[in-house]
Amino acid sequence: MSGHSSERANPAPHGGAKKWRAGVLGATGIVGQRLVQLLADHPWFELTEVAASERSSGKSYAEAARWHLDTPIPAAARDLVVKGLDPSLECDFVFSALDSSVAGSAEEDFARAGYPVVSNSKNHRMDPDVPLLIPEVNAAHLDAIPVQQKHRGYDSGFIVTNPNCSTAGLVLVLKPLADAFGLEKIFVVTLQAVSGAGYPGVASMDIHGNVVPFISGEEEKMEAEPQKLLGKWDGSRFVDAGLGLSAHCNRVPVLDGHLECVSLSLKKIASLGEVREALRTFEVSPELASLPSALRHPVVVLDEQDRPQPRRDVNAGNGMAAVVGRVRECPLLDVKLTLLSHNLVRGAAGAALLNAELLAARGFFHRRVNAEGEQSLAEPVSR
Ligand code: NAP
Repeated sequence: MSGHSSERANPAPHGGAKKWRAGVLGATGIVGQRLVQLLADHPWFELTEVAASERSSGKSYAEAARWHLDTPIPAAARDLVVKGLDPSLECDFVFSALDSSVAGSAEEDFARAGYPVVSNSKNHRMDPDVPLLIPEVNAAHLDAIPVQQKHRGYDSGFIVTNPNCSTAGLVLVLKPLADAFGLEKIFVVTLQAVSGAGYPGVASMDIHGNVVPFISGEEEKMEAEPQKLLGKWDGSRFVDAGLGLSAHCNRVPVLDGHLECVSLSLKKIASLGEVREALRTFEVSPELASLPSALRHPVVVLDEQDRPQPRRDVNAGNGMAAVVGRVRECPLLDVKLTLLSHNLVRGAAGAALLNAELLAARGFFHRRVNAEGEQSLAEPVSR
């Protein structure tokens, strides 16, 4: 446990309580930067540690990160010293935005050392004891955490994941339809932004004025993850939703925002008006609505016939909404529609943040104290 022990703290992070200290693993990457941005001025969390590869460690965050966002690097992050992946960071929990080549073992190391790990990476998403979480869809899957801790011999640590970026928007839109009518088959074609491939991602000569009809591993993830997300935790295992699901994934020359064209068949006959209404009125529980990053209505329905569009609609609901348009009859299945979601916010950093907020609200976080019983913050780099 690296000289650390854990103690239970007031699970309510608001109402004057001290903020939870967050570390970001993979903080220099494109998802990590979004996390650093979203953590600035967060009411419940403060960023105290950043970690990345040997290329970055020892540098200040401002030196190590090739900053891609429109807002400046948050002041609280600029001078943090980038650490390596040793699980001895001065924080109460970690986000992981690590490259999948290292995420699997690093996340296990941190969980074993007592850190809650809130991950973006694919490595543990389909593990039989790891929640794959979208709070608005399957918050009940958090009941798997004590089973995971018991299976793996973790003390206060655990791993929770968020889905792949194209799955996140799709499942948020499927959820109200599954609840209202039941779902049978889903056929989806994606048009995915280049930022989904990390930095530098797809070479400019491959994507400029072009479409690439292949994203490695993406169709497999889109066909597997919704089954777990829309399925159930039965107390000892996850039971799949049993959907018929086929995905075609394409990379397009758009910076941010994954557009998805979906056809689906419903178990119960429904009119287009009823489908639109179910989407439009989808409302989260009061518990979720009280989380800082949550939207009361996370699905936005547009009536214009040429929307949603990435450039115009990607930031709807601060990037946390799934925007739906073109709800119409499908001559092959029952209904077709187009949806858009921000791959780096709803599909990655914002999704992880919302997961962490739910974990904090439900009392899954603990204050980590060092051997002397004191919390110490990461030292700023000396210049
Ligand atoms: P990225 O821009 O390539 O960033 C990768 C991060 O991992 C960087 O901080 C990098 O640090 C770090 N890293 C790489 N090799 C390392 C090593 N050997 N040891 C320690 N750290 C290492 O990738 P990204 O797009 O942000 O994606 C991060 C994760 O989120 C991936 O697992 C990805 O699949 C997942 N994800 C991405 C999206 C998206 O839309 N982009 C959506 C959902 C999930 P250095 O800067 O020091 O190299």
